[in-house]
This record gives sequence, C-alpha cells and structure tokens, in this order.
Amino acid sequence: MEDKLKGSDVQETKLSRREAFGISSAALATVAALGPLGAEAFQEPKPSDKHNAPNETDPGPQNHALAAENPDSEWPPMSDHGTIKPFKYPFSFARKRVESGGWTRQVTVRELPVSTEMAGVEMRLTAGGVRELHWHVEAEWAIMLNGSARITAVDSTGKGFVNDVIAGDLWLFPPGIPHSIQGLGPDGCRFLLVFDNGAFNEFHTFLITDWLTHTPKEVLAKNFNVPASTFDKVPKKELFIFQAELPGPLHEEQEQVAQGTGSLGSLYAFKASTMKPTKVTRGGEVKIIDSKIFPVTPISAAIVTLKPGGLRELHWHPNSDEWQYYIAGKGRMTVFGAATDARTMDFQAGDVGYIPISNPHYIENTGEGDLVFLEMFKASQYQDVSLAEWMAHTPHQLMEQHLGVGMSMLKDIPKQEIVIAPAERS
Ligand code: MN
Ligand code: MN
Repeated sequence: MEDKLKGSDVQETKLSRREAFGISSAALATVAALGPLGAEAFQEPKPSDKHNAPNETDPGPQNHALAAENPDSEWPPMSDHGTIKPFKYPFSFARKRVESGGWTRQVTVRELPVSTEMAGVEMRLTAGGVRELHWHVEAEWAIMLNGSARITAVDSTGKGFVNDVIAGDLWLFPPGIPHSIQGLGPDGCRFLLVFDNGAFNEFHTFLITDWLTHTPKEVLAKNFNVPASTFDKVPKKELFIFQAELPGPLHEEQEQVAQGTGSLGSLYAFKASTMKPTKVTRGGEVKIIDSKIFPVTPISAAIVTLKPGGLRELHWHPNSDEWQYYIAGKGRMTVFGAATDARTMDFQAGDVGYIPISNPHYIENTGEGDLVFLEMFKASQYQDVSLAEWMAHTPHQLMEQHLGVGMSMLKDIPKQEIVIAPAERS
C-alpha cells in the first residue's frame, strides 16, 4: 500500500512538473530512469509561507500600496479556491459629490455588482448644512458616526417627527416617508445610510424643490389657494445638499410640527449610543438592533467590535444577504460559495463588504486595534446559524463520522452560540 502511494506520488510529480516547465518527454524519461531517488532530489516549487519560492516571484509592475492593504489577495490562503465574485468596494473609490453644505458618495450594485439587495451612502453635512427635504421608494436605515444632526419626517397621518441624533445613534425612515437631515454645531456630522435595494440611487430621490419646479405654477396656486407668484422664488435647480441657518430649540420645533395632528415622538430614532451590548465575550462585543427593540425597522443590524485577535465566528444568515460597512481597524473575511469555491479579502475603515444569503463566512481582526463594523440585513429580524451551534446540537456520533475531530472536542463546544471568539468573558 505504501509503495503504491509512493508510486502515484512520483507519477503526479512528473506530470505537474512537465505542465509547469514544459520539460520534454525525453528529459522526463531520464529523470524517471534515475528511479525514486532521482525524483525526490528534484524539488517541486510549491507555494511557501514566506512567499519567496521561485514560482512566487513578481518582477512587477505592481501597486505596492494596494498590495500591502490586501495581503490575502496578494498571497491567498491555501484554502482559497475557484472563482468568487469580488465582495469588497472601498468608499474611497466612489465619486464624491461636493455641495455647499457638505458632500456624499454611494456604493450600490453599480459599483459592487454582487450587492443586489442593499446599497449604502456616506454623507457629511456642515453645521447648518441640510440634506434637502425628500423621500424615496426604499427604507433608509442610518447610523451617526461623528457629530450630531437634527432629523425631521412626517407620516401618512400627518404626525410630525423632529429629533436630534448623536454619534452612535440610529434612525429609520420607512419607504415613502418624507424626511430631512441637518448638521448641528459645532462641526456638523458624518453618517452612513443603508437602503434595502442594491439599485438605490441617492442622486435620484424625490426632492421638494425639483417637484415644485416641475409642477405648473397655476396648479400650485390652486392647490394652496394663493397667488401663483408665491412660488417665484422656488429654486429652479435642486438644492440636494445646501448651507442653511442652524435650527431653533428642539422642543419649539417639536411643538410646532405636532400642531393639529400630534407627534410621532421618537418613533424613527433609536439611541444605540446608550444601548447595552447584546453579547460580550473576551473577543469583543455585539449590539443587535432589529424590530424586536426598534419596531419600525425592516432592516436589522449588528454593530460588532472585535478586540485584537478576536473572531466573529463561522456562521451564515438564512434570511438575508449581508451588507457590511467597516468603521475602524483591519480585518479579513473568507466567503465560502460551495463546490470548492472560497475567497478571502481584507477590509479596513470605509470599505463595504457583501455576502449573499446563506453563504458562510467569518471575520477576523488582523490589526493592532479594535475592528468595528456593521452587519446589515434586509430583514426585520436578525438571524444567523453558527458552525459551532450546528456541531453542538447534531448527534455527536454522526458529526464525528463526518469530521473525525474527536468526541471530546464535540462535547466541549459551548451549547449557546458565542458569536465572538474567544468565548470566555473577560
Ligand atoms: Mn433619504
Ligand atoms: Mn455575518
């Protein structure tokens, strides 16, 4: 048996060597004539840990900065295989639209073709800078990343909503609900928006100025029972993002918008900044925000912090694709796409990641500091299935016959999902 294996190894070596170097049949015959000893003396170049084997040199040209940021594309783990569509797009590559009151850029299915179900927008507003009153067909989920803003909306019963949000807080504007965002003092804000449609386009929303400009003035006059000249000053071109005066006291605006119909209170806002983590382990923590605690949202979120060395455990999501946004630190993720396909990509602050529904993955902190990122789902309830949970709650004998990891390892897997490894509390 041993001899047989050895023989087939030698045969395989001959073939792959021939493939790699185009060695002639005559030369191969010579090597074969040397017998097993001669074959062993020939060193097959294989990928090496140090990546300095003869078959791994790269005389260039090369983008060294990008290669350094993407070590798992430069030299993929040996477990990567086949073709997985790219699942990363840095916001740094997106066109930035700069206006008087701030700027914005977006990553949609047009930038990242795999991201068919969700899209994201980064926005910066100056102190007083306004994202014009508008609405869209999609739901808008948001997290404030820096500074603070005043947000407004009106629902279909005419109830008003005005709230201030600070870094770490969320909001959700349901589909078709008109809204606005305004940066507050001293330095405005920076935030991320997530939409439940990959084809969303922030530059094609329903804007109040755009609509009124494209409605006959006499119809506007009839609608409000005022002279047509009332609308002479409506801007001919959309405002989109523009510089304005800072708003007045919050309570005054809240009282004003509630007149006659009432207030929506804080219905569309969620104070995630003061929320206790859902789960804490030695490896990090996670806040899960879905419709169980934020009833208005059709989009669920996990805000994950991985400490250095921490691992978001192997898992998948049975009810939605996952849209990711990296807030801080460095990490890597492998997505397994079945039928031997697997790909690892590296992530850092400002990158978008994407995983199709039920494709398994992990996220590992590969940096010196905390890795902070968002997992976003087009589903009102957060759901995942973890590898460990699956292994712990499947008959051990059956699992052992698949994997051969040993019964004691299977018995020791925690019965409750750990979410973040290492599992022990600090
Ligand atoms: Mn919007
Ligand atoms: Mn996930």
